[in-house]
Amino acid sequence: MPEVVTLGETLAVLVATSPGPLRYSTHFELRTGGAESTFAVGIVRLGHSAGWISRLGDDEFGKLILAMMRGEGVDVSQVKLDSEAPTGVFFKERREAGESRNYYYRQNSAASKMKPEDIDPQYICSAKYLHLTGITPALSPSCLATVERAMDIAKECGVLISFDPNLRLKLWKKERAIPVLLNLIRKADILFPGIEEAQILLGENEPEKIVERFLELGPSIVALKLGSKGALVANAHQEVYVPAFSVERIVDPFGAGDAFAAGLITGLLEGLSLEEAGRIANAMGALALGVTGNIEALPYRDELIAFMSGNPTIIS
Ligand code: ATP
Repeated sequence: MPEVVTLGETLAVLVATSPGPLRYSTHFELRTGGAESTFAVGIVRLGHSAGWISRLGDDEFGKLILAMMRGEGVDVSQVKLDSEAPTGVFFKERREAGESRNYYYRQNSAASKMKPEDIDPQYICSAKYLHLTGITPALSPSCLATVERAMDIAKECGVLISFDPNLRLKLWKKERAIPVLLNLIRKADILFPGIEEAQILLGENEPEKIVERFLELGPSIVALKLGSKGALVANAHQEVYVPAFSVERIVDPFGAGDAFAAGLITGLLEGLSLEEAGRIANAMGALALGVTGNIEALPYRDELIAFMSGNPTIIS
């Protein structure tokens, strides 16, 4: 049984190959994207076992994602293929100046139909960590109920819950998202807020204050992601600022947070200190920025070690 279990939606991603407004894009690359599946692949690449619970459409994109996750070595025994709803899709526009935009076609997707009965309690109970994100509860009321059920099961059998709030204002309104996310945060053991979403969730700006407030809510470890500044990682006894690795060129800004979470949980699985786990997390986040695509960017253990030690990988 996997050491780490996660649950969430993975979509087919069509990335425009040339910059400009999507309406003028004629060529696309087919990739896949999903916060939780990226996290699961990150864990496996670093040498641990991970399982992914989800629903996919029984369609070409669903079969692609399933094969890809299986090929990456993630346990997919808990993924259901749904013949009545499609796999979600999103299109990625590219801009040379300004923000790139994503256009989502995920309403009523197979994953949005996930329900509490999809979860086998035994599967979660045999893991050490359950990793969830705030994207899933935004997908539908039954997805919210599924996340709550997964958390309840983990709590009952002593599995640690790690949670990335991943506030996505394209998916739900702030007024609804904030109370739901704060409620889920209260049940989490390890929390991965980004600085911007933390400011929205708590109305607080100072990193130290943010970490303190989250610790008061319930989590025993808070890893506050500070982008190019690294992370502030804390528990009830200590607070360590872990500086970022320097990144020469950002090729793709997405997915750093999921890689970061995979790095930190790997460190905790291996009994490392907060500072050591935070260094692995920062290295994972930095490496995620250098390659297009989320899963494509995740390093294997030897690549991570080479990067962290400052030794370039010998390729010939
Ligand atoms: P996303 O939701 O886009 O995946 P996030 O907002 O959850 O990201 P970030 O703070 O952007 O999280 O990035 C996560 C981690 O990645 C940071 O804590 C840091 O370790 C690393 N990182 C991000 N940006 C940079 C950068 N410019 N230089 C070095 N490291 C970075």
